[in-house]
Amino acid sequence: MNFKQIIEEVYLKVKKLDDKGQLATYIPELAKVDSENFGVYISTVDGLSFGIGNCYEKFSIQSIAKVLSLSLGYRLIGEKIWERLGVEPSGTAFNSLVQLETDNGIPRNPFINAGAMVVCDLLLSNLENPKEDFLAFVRSTAGNPELHYSKKIAASESAVGFRNVALCNFIKSFGNIRNKPWEVLDFYFDLCSLEMNCRELSEVFLFLANNGRNTSNNTQILTKSQSKRVNAIMLTCGFYDQSGDFAFRVGLPGKSGVGGGIVAVHPNAYSIAVWSPKLNEKGNSYKGMKFLEEFTTRSELSIF
Ligand code: GLN
Repeated sequence: MNFKQIIEEVYLKVKKLDDKGQLATYIPELAKVDSENFGVYISTVDGLSFGIGNCYEKFSIQSIAKVLSLSLGYRLIGEKIWERLGVEPSGTAFNSLVQLETDNGIPRNPFINAGAMVVCDLLLSNLENPKEDFLAFVRSTAGNPELHYSKKIAASESAVGFRNVALCNFIKSFGNIRNKPWEVLDFYFDLCSLEMNCRELSEVFLFLANNGRNTSNNTQILTKSQSKRVNAIMLTCGFYDQSGDFAFRVGLPGKSGVGGGIVAVHPNAYSIAVWSPKLNEKGNSYKGMKFLEEFTTRSELSIF
């Protein structure tokens, strides 16, 4: 399969499109990003790679990091993790509070904000130095020591994150947050502030295309079954209330973030990262969605 040629053609086509998205202005620092940025990078399990556009520029990966925190939590406590989290699509926005009341504080899935906070709480309870240990896990998964949190982005979100404060306290009232809400939020904002470029993002997710195994040093990060399950949740919940649309148009497990990044994996084949900062009305990158739709349509490869 000539991925390079398809990526070049689709990139040029999508670059020319009128971008109907909007920057995520609710986090002030994210509103300062140059909205013209557009990068793509693919890494295959066979060791091939190709990038185009602004693929070496770092951006805020935001909710994409929730897949990495889930992976570490799942690795640490196994299936017990599902006692405190569901695996159903929520059909609501990423920051919604509505279902928690009737669901007794059990978030529908680990990729909505509520679910990611419960995972942060679990990590706080199970790690000696949660922020450092999580970062070390991400760096070793990526084989890349040059990965960092952005203190600026975390502070910017923390200053205005009133909805997230409400969510965390609400879950605490049901007993599904065990640590202090402010500690959970502090970790959550750092988690969301992780910065990567498209190359780094595609590389860190490659283990999910490789049955949970790191392609460079062959260590098993998740078991084969855990890796399949994380992919299943990405397929059903990775794009909030646009997850069905993403499965329909793109046909791959993936995850988006309000920084405009999207990563998608094709099991046994590749991991691909796209970045274009303007978001559609569901909070997913407008051009990122368009690119991936066209990419899997032209390559005629999806999981279906
Ligand atoms: N940090 C963001 C928030 O909590 C993450 C949301 C996202 O990327 N969808 O609102």
